[in-house]
Amino acid sequence: MACPLVYSPDCRRYDFGGGHPLNSTRLELATDLMRELGLLDRFGVVPPRVASEEELTWVHSPEYVAAVRALSHRPDHPLLSRLYGFGPGDNPPFTGMHEAAATIVGGALVAAEGIASGAFLHAFHISGGLHHAHRAQASGFCVYNDVAVACEFFRRRGWRVLYVDADAHHGDGTQALFYDTDEVLTISLHETGRYLFPGTGDPEELGQGRGYGYSVNVPLLPLTDDASWVECFECVVPAVARAFRPDVLVTQHGCDTHRRDPLTDLSCTVYTAEYFARRVHELSHELCDGRWLATGGGGYDVWVTVPRAWTLVYGVVSHQDVPDTVPEAWRRRWRAWAPEELPHRMREEPSHGAPPVVRAHNLDTARRVAERVLELLGRGS
Ligand SMILES: [Zn+2]
Ligand SMILES: [Zn+2]
Repeated sequence: MACPLVYSPDCRRYDFGGGHPLNSTRLELATDLMRELGLLDRFGVVPPRVASEEELTWVHSPEYVAAVRALSHRPDHPLLSRLYGFGPGDNPPFTGMHEAAATIVGGALVAAEGIASGAFLHAFHISGGLHHAHRAQASGFCVYNDVAVACEFFRRRGWRVLYVDADAHHGDGTQALFYDTDEVLTISLHETGRYLFPGTGDPEELGQGRGYGYSVNVPLLPLTDDASWVECFECVVPAVARAFRPDVLVTQHGCDTHRRDPLTDLSCTVYTAEYFARRVHELSHELCDGRWLATGGGGYDVWVTVPRAWTLVYGVVSHQDVPDTVPEAWRRRWRAWAPEELPHRMREEPSHGAPPVVRAHNLDTARRVAERVLELLGRGS
């Protein structure tokens, strides 16, 4: 079965313009690095499609989709902007925004459909992972929530969906959209909302109604390193995944946990990006016959971190080894545009320099979360 990358240059039309931190050049840099390494030869690259209006309203309100459409034609409409979370700053409307955002959702659906039909075993939807978009609200550079639409696609087939979000920011939109169901379990490891957007993701956010116990949050302190991140992941994710018994895994691989990332305060390296991919890959084979949809997400250290992190992720997704050296041809091709020295090595030594109090606090949080959630899941089954 194929394990493709889902991408086309159309995905780059999702771009808020010059100066905005979400720089779509990162997609070109990452996919070009994969191509240079020969990683795209085996399964090819599958283009997205444009999600239909009906598919978007699986998770978004019809009024919101209509507003995005209207703003897409007339980005300067002040009232619509204000009502739905758009405006200068994080989410400036742009011409063609609806089509661009619906293409990102369509990429998630192409991946999900391939996995559901058995054509794909795993897939990496690199431009996806827009986890902050809410039912009727744009937020945090996210217009339509493609990962939530993919989760909903599987849920409608009667599948139990495990969503794991490794972005430095809390996966608040996805969590909110499935807050009251026990069919989609969301786990988010993120920098604590005390210091970082969107300010949520507290361990007490456990879901509601039938969904109580099916929203899992592990907030991490600033300066969290690879060692502590891995420790918290291991404390929570495998045990909760086994207790939940999913039919499919959907994962968000935001790489803004990196210590170089300009928007966040964690101290991880690309080690965590590859580690997370490896472990959820293993869990997908252990628990759901390998059915696994991986997406991109945040990542604002565009030149040095994102291309390496997502190339390492796709190496895992496609069962191919990634060498330790960044190809000279790739470095040469991008050198003229890069504002800084491009990396020579694909990997980094895992970081372990966090203050002991950070590590202890994180581990204590993770242990309490795991204990509470496993108790709730045990009661439910
Ligand atoms: Zn596999
Ligand atoms: Zn993020």
